[in-house]
Amino acid sequence: MELYNLKHPSQKVSFSEAVQLGLGKDRGLFFPSQIPQLDNTDALLELDFVARSKKVLGAWLAVELGQDTVDKLVDAAFTFDVPLVQVDDKRACLELFHGPTLAFKDFGARFMAQCVNLLAPEKGLTILTATSGDTGAAVADAFYGLDKVKVVVMYPQGKISELQEKMFTTLGGNIITLAVESDFDACQALVKQSFDDQDVREGLALNSANSINISRLLAQVCYYFEAAAQAKRLGHHELVVSVPSGNFGNLTAGLFAKAMGLNIKRFIAATNANDTVPRYLADGEWQPNATVATMSNAMDVSEPSNWPRSEAICEAMGWPLSLISGVAVTEAQTQETLVQLKQAGYQSEPHAAIAANALNGLAADEFGVFLGTAHPAKFKDVVDEVLELDLPLPPELDAVAGKPILSDSLAADFEQLKQYLFAKLA
Ligand SMILES: *Cc1c(COP(=O)(O)O)cnc(C)c1O
Repeated sequence: MELYNLKHPSQKVSFSEAVQLGLGKDRGLFFPSQIPQLDNTDALLELDFVARSKKVLGAWLAVELGQDTVDKLVDAAFTFDVPLVQVDDKRACLELFHGPTLAFKDFGARFMAQCVNLLAPEKGLTILTATSGDTGAAVADAFYGLDKVKVVVMYPQGKISELQEKMFTTLGGNIITLAVESDFDACQALVKQSFDDQDVREGLALNSANSINISRLLAQVCYYFEAAAQAKRLGHHELVVSVPSGNFGNLTAGLFAKAMGLNIKRFIAATNANDTVPRYLADGEWQPNATVATMSNAMDVSEPSNWPRSEAICEAMGWPLSLISGVAVTEAQTQETLVQLKQAGYQSEPHAAIAANALNGLAADEFGVFLGTAHPAKFKDVVDEVLELDLPLPPELDAVAGKPILSDSLAADFEQLKQYLFAKLA
């Protein structure tokens, strides 16, 4: 598989290189030189999720990695269900939150972890990352127990919920967690300083595992096929897919699925008040505002870094941008939708509710799938308050609640971090 840098098209890399580099020159995103076409998507839809995902990912990766390797990566990464739950006549939710950390980020993180471990040098490498919550959990869990990779996750001490903290700080083994006595921005600054420092970067073979890694997006392509397969069994042969969007990786993956030949009629980019893309789709002006905090906090992104890839797919395929409708949903509408979904018998959470709300304008002959990106219990505070209930903890969360936090704490000081990392890892 060949990819090129969207900012410097002359920089061309293989999939293996793109996984290891993350970003290209000048922080440019890697983009495939060709999008593989699947000629018999109907037959593919008859397969089960894992068997089909091997074919979907094999279309991208088999030439470079070998189909056997692709099969092993898929078997190791995709170990949980992806149910499509019908909510009413017009809508169903594709539940992407049945993985170990109860969020759709498990798909991308687990597949990326398998790829990174496969491609790591013999002496191993270190993933260094900062988290304000969810991503850290998905990444830590995905790399836990892999033999060639150590993971260091930094997070702001006291600034995330105890349950969120316990989801990634209780693992131990190759997962090192550091509570930094400052805020999230300070954690990100420490990550950046570490990558800029040649001693640390080379001495510890640093690698980033962030959301722009191409391996994550390819993994996410697979569940769009699963949505179509299950919808077909319900009698729906063409879908409108509504994607609750923050950094726009999820929507990009959906566009790749359509480009490969999957029958998706159109997409809805559903956002909260951080509506840079809906405004851009309406008037062609790219004008990010300051980020605002909302109930759907995993979507509080005003400069979505994957958007250029979404646009590049449309361009490569000759699709008008009107294939994507932008819908920004207010906090009040999100709450109303949570209540309406509950009345229809479906308990949801704010991110999925935004995508469900954005399907309100469906035409009479359309069927909509909205993506359920997180388990409702992960947003228990909001869900309990809006729906006036007391959600029980699912077993995954309940299991960590009683375990001790294994983090070390550290001042937000690069020299101290450097000493710590060499003492612990070199
Ligand atoms: C990350 C996240 C999103 C946004 O996904 P993107 O791919 O960044 O657009 C939506 N919902 C939840 C729960 C998330 O964690």
